[in-house]
Amino acid sequence: MKIAIVLGTRPEIIKMSPIIRECERLNLDYFILHSGQHYSYQMDKVFFDQLKLPNFKYNLDVGSGSHGEQTGTLLSRIEKVLIKEEPDVVLVQGDTNTVLAGTLTASKLKIPVGHVEAGLRSFDRGMPEEINRVVADHLSEFLFAPTNISKDLLVHEGIPEDKIFITGNTVVDALFQNLKLSQDKAEILEKFGLNKKEYFLVTLHRQENVDCPKRLKSISNSLSKINNSFGFDLIFPIHPRTRKCLEKHGICLDGTKCIEPLDYLSFLFLQSQARLILTDSGSVQEEACILKVPCVTLRENTERPETIKVGSNVLAGTLPENILEMTSKMIKVTPDWTNPFGDGQSGNRIMEILISKFQ
Ligand code: UDP
Repeated sequence: MKIAIVLGTRPEIIKMSPIIRECERLNLDYFILHSGQHYSYQMDKVFFDQLKLPNFKYNLDVGSGSHGEQTGTLLSRIEKVLIKEEPDVVLVQGDTNTVLAGTLTASKLKIPVGHVEAGLRSFDRGMPEEINRVVADHLSEFLFAPTNISKDLLVHEGIPEDKIFITGNTVVDALFQNLKLSQDKAEILEKFGLNKKEYFLVTLHRQENVDCPKRLKSISNSLSKINNSFGFDLIFPIHPRTRKCLEKHGICLDGTKCIEPLDYLSFLFLQSQARLILTDSGSVQEEACILKVPCVTLRENTERPETIKVGSNVLAGTLPENILEMTSKMIKVTPDWTNPFGDGQSGNRIMEILISKFQ
């Protein structure tokens, strides 16, 4: 069995890392095809270095661009590699344009696709990620659903049950593999003048939040109100996309410590010691839940309903009064929920399934 692992962004590198580790451990024939969707050191290479991942065999250098440009360029570039390499299976993870292009190209070449983190739905087709997920799920031969909820959604959409495997989410594997190591980054608290459990961690990068100046302004107002009302520090590692939008619209974040995006271990440490997390990220909602840190999601919907169900997360939207209300509510919760995303063995499970199908 020859495997092509297609990835392109920060969360894909992190969530594919347990699968890459398994490929190494089992001495499988595989290669990494990097789309280059994320390309700066802080959004890309730092994760390969820190997670000790082998280098990619190909980097397609797609860079930034509109959705059509990015996806179109990737379709033709991925096709060339897959024709040359003739893998037996292509693995993609999540919901990016890299996933869309990887899945579409492989399917047209009749190469089966395995979708890691299948069956997530926000039911909001206004989100580019939702379109990518739906297409990837419906074209894949192996759907690795993290939970029962994601499996049920896929079945409901008519996907045959024998293509769906509940494996847990590889985010847990990556977190368990790195949490202890993240303790080495403890000095980050001192560096940014923070005290354990006395700060809120913020991340924000969804297109619908940051590309819309009204929503971005509303969130920035909320953050300064939170800073005034709760008296906790706010620390915000800013995604490059968000920084661009803040600068373009001249929006300032008063009372918030704005820093560059962090490496995975430093970010894990900051998450684990936060009093509360405010985010619109998908993976951060999961990680907050696993780390037992209350989360307030700055969106109207989530494709991670498991977090709402166990009580680790609430949806606050983007209006200051709602965000303040949800923050007051979540700061009081006892973090006694159970992690719904699995036992940290998802990478192993996924590879065993593939091995049983191909060997
Ligand atoms: N992350 C990181 N440094 C940061 C912010 C996030 O290493 O400064 C990690 C985080 O632990 C998670 C992933 O990046 O595993 C989340 O990526 P992002 O929010 O960009 O993507 P999403 O999950 O929303 O697709």
